[in-house]
Amino acid sequence: MLTIKLPQIFRVHQVPRIFWEDGIMSGYRHPKSSALDCVLSSFQMTNETVNIWTHFLPTWYFVWRFLVLSSSLDFCREPHHWPLLIYLLLVCPYPFASSCAHTFSSMSALYSLGCAFAYGAYAMPDHWLSGVLHRYFVPVAAFNSFVCTGLSCYSRFPELERPQLSKALRMAAFMYPFLYDNIPLFYRLLFCFWSSCAWNEAVAGYCYHLLFALLTGFLFASHLPERLAPGRFDYIGHSHQLFHICAMLGTHFQLEAPNQGLGPPNPRPKPRPVSQQVQHSYPGDPCLSVCLCVIVTAQQG
Ligand SMILES: [Zn+2]
Repeated sequence: MLTIKLPQIFRVHQVPRIFWEDGIMSGYRHPKSSALDCVLSSFQMTNETVNIWTHFLPTWYFVWRFLVLSSSLDFCREPHHWPLLIYLLLVCPYPFASSCAHTFSSMSALYSLGCAFAYGAYAMPDHWLSGVLHRYFVPVAAFNSFVCTGLSCYSRFPELERPQLSKALRMAAFMYPFLYDNIPLFYRLLFCFWSSCAWNEAVAGYCYHLLFALLTGFLFASHLPERLAPGRFDYIGHSHQLFHICAMLGTHFQLEAPNQGLGPPNPRPKPRPVSQQVQHSYPGDPCLSVCLCVIVTAQQG
């Protein structure tokens, strides 16, 4: 009879210090696991199992939303929907890439680039359209993805000698693209808050997204709750799992917001000719943006 031997699980002091996580005392996989062991470990309880599944399952939810939206929106002929299409094409693989990263231990920056496409097209304040920030928004976001992926990788080097610096670098690699991508949104929310503009469901959706994004940042930085009770949340409930769940909920609200018919706080100007709509939907040079996007995506693979 075929028997499958599940990989051995280790306690914190049995793995090299570089793999230690704050407040996580057990459930570690072997640092040099084979690919098969990595796959098998996703079906046994380790401190990575919930991390893997909390991104693997939402992948299929987003793929399903993509298919539903594809049947109701004309992605081929309606240029206004192209940024949403690119956002979906980048957002669907991002939880999958993260799930693989947790299975095989590496990283991804697709999500931030997807956000830049969506916000560059749907969240830009009207009077910023065709301005310098609008034109270079996505190319700069693609450049940020390169820099932050490098920074995130580099942050592993000083981990033993200077753990605080290593953490600060990783935090910067995570926070900087988030803050950059959200510039139009911050502006719109502030603008909406201080003026008498109409409150619509799309803005509410983006507010929920921001709330969950701030929560993910807090969980990432604080390592709560496991820091308060080391060993209690090794398998279920540690900060990285909560981080994943908040990130997925945030992405859900972000994905749904443009579908609520997001308009700027003030009424949109009269419809523009199609050629101008394309220009406005794609901040920056479309070819350059898509090329950079493909390069970044390829780099992640
Ligand atoms: Zn993760």
